Amino acid sequence: MGSVSCGDQELEDNQRTDQPLFVEVEGPIIVGAGPSGLAVSACLSEHGVPSLILEKSDCIASLWQKWTYDRLKLHLPKRFCELPLLRFPKNFPKYPTKQQFVSYLESYASHFKIEPIFNQTVQSAEFDESCGLWRVRTWEGLERRSRWLVVATGENAEPATPEVDGLESFRGRVVHTSRYKSGLEFEGERVLVVGCGNSGMEVSLDLCRSNAIPHMVVRSTVHVLPREMLGLSTFGVAMALLKWLPLRLVDKILLLIANITLGNTDRLGLRRPKTGPLELKNVTGKTPVLDVGALAQIKSGKIKVVKEVKKITKNGAKFLDGQEEKFDSIILATGYKSNVSSWLKGGDFFTKEGMPKTPFPNGWKGDDGLYTVGFTRRGILGTGCDAIKIAGDIADQWRSSVKESNQDLHNSHIIHLQKS
Ligand SMILES: Cc1cc2nc3c(=O)[nH]c(=O)nc-3n(C[C@H](O)[C@H](O)[C@H](O)COP(=O)(O)OP(=O)(O)OC[C@H]3O[C@@H](n4cnc5c(N)ncnc54)[C@H](O)[C@@H]3O)c2cc1C
Repeated sequence: MGSVSCGDQELEDNQRTDQPLFVEVEGPIIVGAGPSGLAVSACLSEHGVPSLILEKSDCIASLWQKWTYDRLKLHLPKRFCELPLLRFPKNFPKYPTKQQFVSYLESYASHFKIEPIFNQTVQSAEFDESCGLWRVRTWEGLERRSRWLVVATGENAEPATPEVDGLESFRGRVVHTSRYKSGLEFEGERVLVVGCGNSGMEVSLDLCRSNAIPHMVVRSTVHVLPREMLGLSTFGVAMALLKWLPLRLVDKILLLIANITLGNTDRLGLRRPKTGPLELKNVTGKTPVLDVGALAQIKSGKIKVVKEVKKITKNGAKFLDGQEEKFDSIILATGYKSNVSSWLKGGDFFTKEGMPKTPFPNGWKGDDGLYTVGFTRRGILGTGCDAIKIAGDIADQWRSSVKESNQDLHNSHIIHLQKS
């Protein structure tokens, strides 16, 4: 602890004022021990580069372990959700459960001997030009320094909760999907689900299965696609077609098949956007919903689709069309947001929303040894691409600095021999 390779004066000042000392970390500092942080650490270790992961929670993959509901399964087939260098176990189903995914991540961490430091919330990270190092401070008080900083805190670091008029006056329960575990807690209740993305649809389905009465608010347009088309995953079909056909044509094919298999979703209150699902994802990052059964429940009337809410009242909600309904609970399926802008200081690599300004596939590298992984809006597949590139890039620098220091050692040895 307390390396004095830079900031000697500062160290003395620290000692005088009883401030904590700093540690100079050998390899990169990675912030976040989710799938992205683990992937970079594993790829670095393949190159023989050590790394240090700081994680605010007390476990790896905290999003999956703590902030998702019990029945969650991977949305995409397992072959699109593997991290680099280690396959899923062969006996895993096509769509592993969240428990299986977590057990895979646990084995991944132990296979690559990754040992994050837990309960370390990064409060600030700033590049110090005077010593050419990133200064990373945690709430727990210690400062760590490194030539490289890898931002792996995720696109889903915090719940996004929009302003809803009157929400504070509601007397029932209000929870964000990140706190939702199971529909059993809502058995028999009338529940307003605000949001109709993958989370909103799946939570509504889960509520239905627990004999609750979900009302799903659909404010804007949404693309719903079947999770599988003709026995093949829709995502896989799209990926394959994109190798040969232009994006807009692939969108047309997907929509044609979706209309044949699901019927006209507009009639259920789920209006499709004018832009196709893949093009929309590329332009806005909005993911199409992959249906795992909610649509059938909407058709049967068990999940009710309701229009935009005008105001939440003490006992329920008033809708734009003037209707008023009573609800016992409200679930906000309103998504997540990045937290990077709250702790990464200086530079203009990220937007104020905490996403890299340069889009995929070029948003993984900034200046002064800054890297970002998992901000591609392409799930684990995007994470894998980023992690491999980041590790390769850092390893090149690592090797040349090792070479340089060996050379320095060699030269000093020669000088020493000449003197003696
Ligand atoms: C419900 C849900 C289902 C999904 N399903 C799929 C799927 O099937 N397939 C797919 O490819 N993708 C899926 N995704 C998208 C994405 O792949 C996952 O969100 C994945 O967990 C992203 O990994 P990550 O490591 O980038 O971020 P996260 O998993 O969010 O990990 C980030 C880590 O950083 C830590 N952290 C945050 N801030 C700080 C800080 N200041 N200091 C220290 N640590 C910090 C967090 O505690 C967390 O452990 C899903 C996302 C959600 C929300």
